Amino acid sequence: MGHSSIGMVMRKFTAFILSLVTPFTAMHAEKAPNEETYPVVILGGGVGALTSAIYLQRAGIHAVVIEGQNPGGAIAQSPMVNNWPGEMEIDGSTLVEKIRTQAETNGAEILLQEVTSVDFSKQPYLITTQDLNDEKVQHKIRANTCIIATGATPKFLGIPGEYGENSYWTRGVYSCAVCDGALYKDRTVAVIGGGDSALLEAEYLSKIAKKVYLLVRSGDFRSTESLRKNQLLQKTNVEVRYHTQVKEVQGDGNKVTSLVIKGADKKESKLPVDGVFIAIGANPNSKLFKGQLDIDTQGYIVLKQQQQTSRPGVFAIGDVVDPIYKQAISAAGDGAKAALQAERYLATLPDIKRVNNTASLAVSAPAKAEVVLVKDSQEEVIEVTSMDQLDQEINSSTLPLLVDFYSPYCGPCRKLAPIFEQTAGKYKGRIRFVKVNVSKVTSVSSAYNIYGIPTIIVFKNGKEVDRRTGGTQINPLMNNLDNL
Ligand code: NDP
Repeated sequence: MGHSSIGMVMRKFTAFILSLVTPFTAMHAEKAPNEETYPVVILGGGVGALTSAIYLQRAGIHAVVIEGQNPGGAIAQSPMVNNWPGEMEIDGSTLVEKIRTQAETNGAEILLQEVTSVDFSKQPYLITTQDLNDEKVQHKIRANTCIIATGATPKFLGIPGEYGENSYWTRGVYSCAVCDGALYKDRTVAVIGGGDSALLEAEYLSKIAKKVYLLVRSGDFRSTESLRKNQLLQKTNVEVRYHTQVKEVQGDGNKVTSLVIKGADKKESKLPVDGVFIAIGANPNSKLFKGQLDIDTQGYIVLKQQQQTSRPGVFAIGDVVDPIYKQAISAAGDGAKAALQAERYLATLPDIKRVNNTASLAVSAPAKAEVVLVKDSQEEVIEVTSMDQLDQEINSSTLPLLVDFYSPYCGPCRKLAPIFEQTAGKYKGRIRFVKVNVSKVTSVSSAYNIYGIPTIIVFKNGKEVDRRTGGTQINPLMNNLDNL
């Protein structure tokens, strides 16, 4: 059973328990989030955010988590975590799913929304969000306290061909091996960077790709895990090139073919590769708070006392405040501290009600609605587990056929999954919906020329008639299937 399936089963179980608890749940479910003033709203959905939510719920304070575009945060993309206390080895997405389930089971309310602006000028604070299930819908959420856990965004090199218009971004250039690495079975890839992320990416890719170049700009790694570094250096298909800078990503218009690199000898040369994974650190996601909170010159939110920002009642945690440690476990520690500080701050405000902890197990109505939807419709999507089965589906379907090429670790794929399943329910008997996990059925990537996920291909009478990659292309297709 895949990790996401385990998560889904856990969520279904939670939904089943929640469905037994009435009528409070039902009443709550009908209340639009924007009518409420919540005691605490947490901005972000990584381990720090979820830890805050667990602490708050256990303290009898209802916690709302605005999960954002990147559910689970950075650790959800980590193929292997070996330094989380209590877990000898676990993949990041399973770890965060366990923490999420713990938060939801304790009553935390997790909203599939993205924060677009905040107003911390007066109490209650105002947070405007975009609904991730329906991009036309905006919400206004009021909060007595906020915990900011917006994390950081991977950095780019700023070289030609890497990112932006006419670049190879998502067509050979990526920032997450666990999401897109499966597309490079038996191919040649490069990882750029020399920190722990680059080591992890290279280690993961070394199990899939024929050859992995690790391009480090200085003469050594900047890593906290020397054991991991030494193991990687033993691998015969990994070649480390120190003092190497990447100047350009080149391709044939459709996909990456090579890198222009400058080595220790200061000469430029071409390095033929099929894919590039950039792992050179990340920038704190603090833009939303400019002008409202003190932010330092590197973009980190400045803390005044423990997790307290320059604004009373606004706390910040994890990678958005931490230029030094940047560990998931330190974000979780920050999350616990912020929750306790928020609780103390709320005690100074009038009329803040605590939830009854027994009842709070029934409070996470949005989670219930989300899970039940998945449960009701999931049978409409067929998961194929081999190339033969996929070919047979494509060639034998008398209905138009949509195939979702996904990987369980890719954030956008996880966001698409419930929409795909809901849409499959709606078009039952008219369109056939199939999904294929590219990290399990690895041969499909080269057979169907998949260079980015999620990709949806539409087939009619065994022939490809449309193809979309990424949410921006896929969402309009999903909203416009009547013409198929
Ligand atoms: P880091 O900031 O630790 O490392 C960035 C790396 O990228 C450095 O080697 C840096 O080189 C290099 N780099 C930066 N800019 C460029 C550039 N323009 N061109 C080429 N190379 C460049 O980032 P990470 O994302 O690796 O890690 C972030 C934090 O997360 C760290 O604290 C790390 O310990 C932690 N982490 C921990 C993990 C674990 O399992 N313990 C796993 C993953 C991350 P230089 O050294 O020359 O500046």
